Amino acid sequence: MGSKVLNIIVCIKQVPNIREARLDPGTGTMLRDAIPSIMNPDDKAALEAALRLKDSRGAHVTVLSMGPPQAETALREALAMGADEAFLLTDRAFAGSDTCATAYTIAAAIKVMKYDLIFTGRQAIDGDTAQVGPQIAEHLQIANISYAEKITVQADAVIVTSRLDNCSYVVKAKMPCLITTLSELNEPRYMTPGGVFEAYREEIKKITRRNLDADSKRLGQKGSPTHIAQTCAKSAKTTGIVADHLNSQEAAEYLLEKLREQLIIS
Ligand SMILES: Cc1cc2nc3c(=O)[nH]c(=O)nc-3n(C[C@H](O)[C@H](O)[C@H](O)COP(=O)(O)OP(=O)(O)OC[C@H]3O[C@@H](n4cnc5c(N)ncnc54)[C@H](O)[C@@H]3O)c2cc1C
Repeated sequence: MGSKVLNIIVCIKQVPNIREARLDPGTGTMLRDAIPSIMNPDDKAALEAALRLKDSRGAHVTVLSMGPPQAETALREALAMGADEAFLLTDRAFAGSDTCATAYTIAAAIKVMKYDLIFTGRQAIDGDTAQVGPQIAEHLQIANISYAEKITVQADAVIVTSRLDNCSYVVKAKMPCLITTLSELNEPRYMTPGGVFEAYREEIKKITRRNLDADSKRLGQKGSPTHIAQTCAKSAKTTGIVADHLNSQEAAEYLLEKLREQLIIS
């Protein structure tokens, strides 16, 4: 192998398997306990990318998650897939974090760790903002390359092929840098029985408010400029009116009539 062993940190979010999500009719918030949680799909691809670099050239793979105690399950799955070390950022002080507070808190934890590469998913399937990765890079003052569909390491640089809509482009950056990954990047490996056994013997290190060097005003709900007022199930749309038998002039008049009928226009 000869080349320097890379230190790779992978940020993993435990998310509700939203395909099975149910909302609390009273508060409109997601009934998180009622639905199974999974490792965010883009993050699983990020972890697989890190493990392939470990297999091909040697790397120490650390996984980190911020969440309630039950987020440990996603970290144990990552250990069973082959990660070397796991950290859970968990404290009531971190609850209610929006993307600003989440990125600030994760960056504060990573700041004191060794890293050449940081992998995050492009986006989480619940919050869906795709904001945390680039914000972490900003806090750490390192380059950020998004939407990776191919990652190669060459000496002290990384070469990434990124995909945006229907075009790909190649970016080269010096390490350390942060890369956000697409779930299409690869086919993640399965946990091995031996890996599962080992994973349940591995200690998951906890990072709490007390052992995090951070400004309390920037943590949790207090540090979140964005508050989720309400989430609600999208009401099923009624079928539209098809008027393809009319020519464009007639169709325009017909539309105006309908809009007036519905008091949308006067
Ligand atoms: C329905 C819904 C809508 C929301 N809308 C907003 C909003 O508009 N603005 C806002 O600021 N917040 C919003 N939030 C809160 C937001 O989900 C949390 O702040 C969350 O921790 C980070 O945002 P995200 O889920 O969009 O992650 P993204 O930015 O989409 O996540 C990108 C990547 O960052 C990493 N990452 C993200 N969160 C964590 C974590 N907790 N631990 C480890 N790695 C992580 C993962 O690798 C992930 O793939 C919303 C939450 C919900 C449930």
